[in-house]
This record gives sequence, C-alpha cells and structure tokens, in this order.
Amino acid sequence: MTRFIEIVEVGPRDGLQNEALPLPPEERVAFIRRLEAAGARRIEAVSFVNPKRVPQMAGAEEIMAALPPTPGRIRIGLVLNERGWDRCVAAGCDEANVVVCASDGFAVRNQGSTVAEQVAMLGTIVGRRATEGGPPVSLTISVAFGDPFDGEVSEAQVVDIAREAERLGVPEIALGDTIGVADPWTVRRRIEAVRAAAPGARLRMHFHDTRNTALANAFAAVEAGVDVLDASVGGLGGCPFAPGASGNLATEDLVYMLRRAGFETGYDLAALIDEGRRMRERLGRAGGSALGRAGAWPREG
Ligand code: MG
Repeated sequence: MTRFIEIVEVGPRDGLQNEALPLPPEERVAFIRRLEAAGARRIEAVSFVNPKRVPQMAGAEEIMAALPPTPGRIRIGLVLNERGWDRCVAAGCDEANVVVCASDGFAVRNQGSTVAEQVAMLGTIVGRRATEGGPPVSLTISVAFGDPFDGEVSEAQVVDIAREAERLGVPEIALGDTIGVADPWTVRRRIEAVRAAAPGARLRMHFHDTRNTALANAFAAVEAGVDVLDASVGGLGGCPFAPGASGNLATEDLVYMLRRAGFETGYDLAALIDEGRRMRERLGRAGGSALGRAGAWPREG
C-alpha cells in the first residue's frame, strides 16, 4: 500500500504572517480556497494574535466566517494564550494549534510569557476544553532546535514539554524549527526522544529553509516514521527574529520529492506550483521554491 504523508499547508498563517505586505481578509480567504482546490485538507488558516502586534493576521474572525464548516477540510487557528483560545472557539475553527516555546528567550519575546507559564496555559486550555467544549487541540513546540536569543535548545527542553503534553492527552505534537537551524541527524534523534516521552501522540514536523536544510530534514522525519509535515506554498514566510530567513519549507518542493518517491499526498503539484508563483508575485518577493523555478518532472501535458 502506498504510504500517505499528510502535509499541513501553513502558507495563510506562518507564510503570510512573516511577509511584509499585509493582505486583506478577503484575499486570504481566496488564497485558502485555492489551496483547498489544490488538495490541501488541513490548513493553518488564521492566528488569534493581537492585530496591533501582527497586522498581517488581522481579521481572523472575518476569515473563519467566510469559510463555513466543510467535511474533509480542517481549518486550524493558531493559539498563543487563553484569550486566543476563546477567540478560536468563538470563530469556529476545526482545530486549535497551541504554541509552547521550548526556550525562554523566544518565549518571552514572542509570547510575553515563560516556557513554564506556556505549559501551564496548555493545561488550562485542555482542561477548559474538557468541561466547556471546543475544537481538538494540537501542540506545536516552537524553537525546538534553536532559539534566536538563547542559542542551542537541548533535547531535554523539548522532551519535558512533550511529556507534559502526553500527560494531558494532547493527540498531536509538532516540533517547530522556527529559525531553520535543524539538521537531519538531530531531527531523527529528537523524533525518537519525543516518541519515547509521548508514545500516545502523533508527531508532526515544521521546518524552515533558512539554511537550505528543510528538505533534508523532511526526509529524515519521513524516514523516522513521521507521517505529518507542515509546509508553505511558494516557501512563503520567514521569521522576524531570524534575519535573512528564506521562508518555510515550500509545499511544492516537498510534494514533488515525495511524489517522485511514490508517496501519496493528495496535492495537485501543477496547481501548487502556479499558486506559489502567484503568491510570490503578489507579495513582491523574489526567490521561492525550487519547483517554482524549474517546474515539475516528468513534464505534464
Ligand atoms: Mg514557522
């Protein structure tokens, strides 16, 4: 049987959040719809952050209101605190992706709270969901391979958070290489360590291509048995705390590599390449995915 690799499209959130040009909600809705037409079944659609701090993410409620629940489509809202959880529930997201940083330097500057406070926040949200209801909760451990302020992040820092998530019954844990400093061998070791600490959770990996290692890291993750990866069409994104960051792993590059090897992803590669080119042009951003430059192989049509 062909192995299916689920790719969570994060362009509308992690991609656009880190692009200089803010797009209005209606344009982001159209972007999400085109991505779904290209095969995305699970999309990081919005972020419930303060729009004064992150103007690129303003209008989350408006976007969710324009996307009525659709069977087989999961629209994820990013949640950084309890206020974000309240907004995520009210907006009707299909999933809340709660972010806990692995290291205090980034935790305090990005979310205004310490790692310990964020772990407690995760517990509060899981507890509130159990009594009050709400969408399924997944966890992303950000800066899981390195912190732009504190430097190296140890395996133990990541494992401690994963162990607590397992205790809380969080069904999916993602390791986010927020600034793009992971290498394939560390990826494998960290996956094995997190799996041992949280055997009940599905693992998802989130890579940035800051230093050209994202595709190699994705390969290592798939080889280590991970079936869920984040990617951003056109390689959109970056990180305000990672100067020169070239963006997220490009969805079309990942789909191409996996398809060449015989994996199923459910994506239409030609449509993704078109979409990546369209959005890079719209945002006035040079560069982007390798598939955007070279096209697919074998040639289609
Ligand atoms: Mg990211």
